[in-house]
Amino acid sequence: MPNIAIIGGGIAGLTCALALAQRGFHSTIFEQATALKEVGAGIQLSPNAVKPLEKLGLMPAINGFASAPRAIKIYSGRSGKPIVQLPLGQTIEKQFGAPYLSVHRADLQKALAQACERSPKIATNLGAQIERVPLENGKADILGDFFDLVIVADGVNSKLRKQCFALDAVDTGLIAWRATFAMDERPEAFSNHSTTLCLSSAAHLVTYPIASGLELNAVAILAEGTDIRSGFDKWSSKWKPLLEKQNEWIAWPLRAAPTMASRLNGPFVFMGDAAHGMLPFAAQGGAMAIEDAFMLATAISKLKSNPKALRHWAIAREKRTTKVAATARQNRQIYHLPQPMAKIRDSGMAMLGPERLMARQSWIYDFDATAWSPNSSA
Ligand SMILES: Cc1cc2nc3c(=O)[nH]c(=O)nc-3n(C[C@H](O)[C@H](O)[C@H](O)COP(=O)(O)OP(=O)(O)OC[C@H]3O[C@@H](n4cnc5c(N)ncnc54)[C@H](O)[C@@H]3O)c2cc1C
Repeated sequence: MPNIAIIGGGIAGLTCALALAQRGFHSTIFEQATALKEVGAGIQLSPNAVKPLEKLGLMPAINGFASAPRAIKIYSGRSGKPIVQLPLGQTIEKQFGAPYLSVHRADLQKALAQACERSPKIATNLGAQIERVPLENGKADILGDFFDLVIVADGVNSKLRKQCFALDAVDTGLIAWRATFAMDERPEAFSNHSTTLCLSSAAHLVTYPIASGLELNAVAILAEGTDIRSGFDKWSSKWKPLLEKQNEWIAWPLRAAPTMASRLNGPFVFMGDAAHGMLPFAAQGGAMAIEDAFMLATAISKLKSNPKALRHWAIAREKRTTKVAATARQNRQIYHLPQPMAKIRDSGMAMLGPERLMARQSWIYDFDATAWSPNSSA
């Protein structure tokens, strides 16, 4: 059995350790933080993200804190008028075989970390910042221990990517402002049971319930250099009470992963944001990390019978994450269109209607990482 190290204990690294353990493999996680707790606010888990989590037996824990938004209600940021409403809830669960959930990141991180702690196959080194990994006879030397395989899951600003490919993350020119509010203190315009998406020009705002519906998560995305208040000055007064809770908002510069020649480099395997960090306009970065993790464990478990399994994994993941990242970039253009195109976008969306708008996402949500095998792909 290969001796496996995982650099980074985020969503990608923890999920991968659990998926490996389920297949009988030991791994050692190296995480720079001294405690496994996520910063940031909420995260939406689409059906393609939920399927691997279900297979890992995590749903009893996740259902204890998740919310299942009933719909995505899309509004014009400027006029405050509704544009279209897309069904989530039971409709999406029936269609894609798993629910669409929204959770607090800290809750998800805790559920993953506790499952790792319970597993005798997972060792965790906290406070271990790994910036360079020397090689000796093809094996990786991490803090004096030698590993056959190093799974690199150290996020979009990956230090190991720098070592292997001399590539830094790319600035996107956008800032995400993030905040959470007690649900019963939210302004009335924002639903307590659905996702609210407000579109305008050069900015958009999303809110959704988290923490079993007790909190509202909000993300406002603007161009760098624009303040949260001035970025929305032309918006309907309907949305302002939330945006004006100024002290609550935390600015988060959005960076993306550069194009790498390959996800594989000697004993290093790149996954999650370290490999494909993307704009959050399709709400898929975390979902791609979870898919990556589950499929990577499958590939590793098949290595004995199929020495090309890792190569097949890398090709399959590159193809899918490239397409999803392109969708996120396209959504950026659409969500932030200048006037008068923004008005045309709004009426176009209303005309297309929920079914056709939802159909644009079905190839993303339909994907089942748990059904993948390296023997069945290129
Ligand atoms: C505003 C916003 C909204 C988003 N919304 C969604 C959404 O709704 N749905 C969705 O699926 N995705 C969403 N995403 C994307 C999602 O957050 C990321 O894709 C996901 O967190 C990536 O997980 P990861 O484990 O690859 O990386 P990270 O979460 O960055 O984890 C990397 C880990 O590695 C550790 N680390 C870093 N460097 C080192 C080192 N040198 N040594 C040791 N440890 C190290 C870090 O401490 C961290 O624990 C959103 C992102 C943003 C910014």
